[in-house]
Amino acid sequence: MYAVIVCPKCRSHSQIIEQAGAKTTRCQRCGSTLKVRRLRLLYESDTLSKAVEARTCIQMKLDGEDEPDKADKSQATLSADRRKPPKKKGPEKIVLDTVRSEGGTVDIYELERRLADHGIEGEQFEKVLAILLERGELYSPEKGRIRAV
Ligand SMILES: [Zn+2]
Repeated sequence: MYAVIVCPKCRSHSQIIEQAGAKTTRCQRCGSTLKVRRLRLLYESDTLSKAVEARTCIQMKLDGEDEPDKADKSQATLSADRRKPPKKKGPEKIVLDTVRSEGGTVDIYELERRLADHGIEGEQFEKVLAILLERGELYSPEKGRIRAV
């Protein structure tokens, strides 16, 4: 009996094994030693040519899947890169986000304390707060309270 297996280590290489053969096989791509009994058999046949055919088909799928996978990865990298600039967001954005994360209204002392965690404190805190209040992005509904618009 011949079987087609996919290396569980690199997941990119299929090969034909003879089940009556050795207990282990070696991935021809990554060189991992694979325990035959623990491998998932994707195809089984008594005929080697059929197994070869199946293996070709499986390998094509693996190769085909390889590319969208790579594309996904690069996309993920891209979107991660796109996410980077907001990560290095300016103090104004951090202040706004902090106020919003507090439900839109926050005690000014609480805000100051929270922003200190972001390295915005003292004069900078006052300055950023003043800018945002001036821009109308934040306002003070009552003394000591800050609200996001
Ligand atoms: Zn492998």
